[in-house]
Amino acid sequence: MSQLELELARRRTFAIISHPDAGKTTLTEKLLWFGGAIQVAGEVRARKASRHATSDWMELEKQRGISVTSSVMQFPYRECMINLLDTPGHEDFSEDTYRTLTAVDSAVMVIDSVNGVEAQTIKLLNVCRLRDTPILTFINKLDREGRPPIELLDEIESVLDIQCAPMTWPISMGKRFRGVYHLYDDIVYFFDPQAEKGTSEIIEGLDNPRLDELIPDQAEELRMEVELVRGASHAFDQEAYLAGRQTPVYFGSAVNNFGVQSLLDAVVELSPAPQPRATETRLVQPAEAKFTGFVFKIQANMDPKHRDRIAFVRVCSGKFERGIKLRQRSTGKTLAVNNAITFMAQDRNTTDEAWPGDILGIPNHGTVLLGDAFSEGEDLKFTGIPCFAPEHFRRAQIRNPLKMKQLQKGLQQLAEEGATQLFKPIHSNDLILGAVGTLQFDVVAHRLEFEYGVDVMFEPYPVATARWLRGDDLAIRALADKSGVNVALDGAGDHVYLAPNRVNLAMTQERHPEVKFLETREIH
Ligand code: GDP
Repeated sequence: MSQLELELARRRTFAIISHPDAGKTTLTEKLLWFGGAIQVAGEVRARKASRHATSDWMELEKQRGISVTSSVMQFPYRECMINLLDTPGHEDFSEDTYRTLTAVDSAVMVIDSVNGVEAQTIKLLNVCRLRDTPILTFINKLDREGRPPIELLDEIESVLDIQCAPMTWPISMGKRFRGVYHLYDDIVYFFDPQAEKGTSEIIEGLDNPRLDELIPDQAEELRMEVELVRGASHAFDQEAYLAGRQTPVYFGSAVNNFGVQSLLDAVVELSPAPQPRATETRLVQPAEAKFTGFVFKIQANMDPKHRDRIAFVRVCSGKFERGIKLRQRSTGKTLAVNNAITFMAQDRNTTDEAWPGDILGIPNHGTVLLGDAFSEGEDLKFTGIPCFAPEHFRRAQIRNPLKMKQLQKGLQQLAEEGATQLFKPIHSNDLILGAVGTLQFDVVAHRLEFEYGVDVMFEPYPVATARWLRGDDLAIRALADKSGVNVALDGAGDHVYLAPNRVNLAMTQERHPEVKFLETREIH
């Protein structure tokens, strides 16, 4: 095997998806701890806090108590190199999360055992489904009196329409929670919140007399339950998991470290190495010798000392080495990449090499765009990086008209980062912002003030939703002639229909059957 094949075979790139408060931050921290990437649990939160303190923009996060930024954490575990991509939990920033999900090969879904499947879980799972991303499930907070595990599995199956294959089974819950039984390894892990890693003892076999010694009044109940579960639930099927049709389910309590190691072992043993990526022209295989990668996220101000932007690039094939000359698709220019960074869990390190599945941060001054691609010469456009129809609209009004240029530049650049979308109606000079969540407007106003020196006001704008228009030029022109007040160009020059309400949208669609009205578009 070549070094490239070896390195890519040991990569695991995944993200955690969950509804806010299910325990994603806690689980992330414990995964890093079990992976030896942090010394003391609590560091991730602390790191978040100190990052907050250093930047104006992060100040906003702190005030709101939410995490706006996605970050990437890389750490070695067993024979693997793990890339864990963090995603903002607040639903107003879900666009960022959606795009991060295009850069992973699998996901871990965290379910709160008390609340079961929640709204945000459903949305995120549907995004994973667009690419049939394999999902591992972690049912968290077993130390609390939650819903019966069978009921939770039923809910996941019916609401999320994915088969569940329990891999571990909990020994009761809440006050009576004693541990989990691994259905395939035939091992019982005993839970003890006082034990250093949450586990006090590990025994082999359900028939082990030690089981009766440790939990005399629950052993028989467990044996019966396990028999029942084996009969009534789906057996683990690797192929179905990799195809995104089945999710292996683990139980635990992240805050107590319990069940976390089994989950991390599952990431290593079950989840896929870097997968091929689709482009408009061909499928790119990770083992191809030449480097390729695409930009799934742009972030400004990660380090307030450097006011430039970082483009997050998912490596799709080949090897990255410092100084490699790469062609940037959007400009067609070739540049020597000397300053890319990786994201080892402790610090941002300037990197010497990276392999398929890894994430690179490429600093730039706004020239790299969302959806951009890098290659050793080939013109490749990676597909499937989505942009979603906004649901909230504002008209940008400036207090000082002399700052119009800065405003336009700022809005254009923030739109390129994906912070909000910018629309220019074809019949007016208005600057209309669209967002998936209203908090995005606050971030934009804040950043316009601090980064571009523009004091901006956002006024309500009477639009309910937007649709990208597809069709031949004549058909779109006909629509623009009839309903010009509602037609705009987006930041990329694409025609968009801004619908004042759903009825109007339905009527316009009916009147123009030759035009397609798209709810999402791929980033150019
Ligand atoms: P996130 O919003 O999904 O990132 O959730 P957090 O990790 O911030 O957790 C939300 C709350 O749930 C916090 O108060 C955690 O301490 C708590 N929590 C996390 N895991 C557990 C668990 O296993 N048991 C209990 N009882 N609480 C937990």
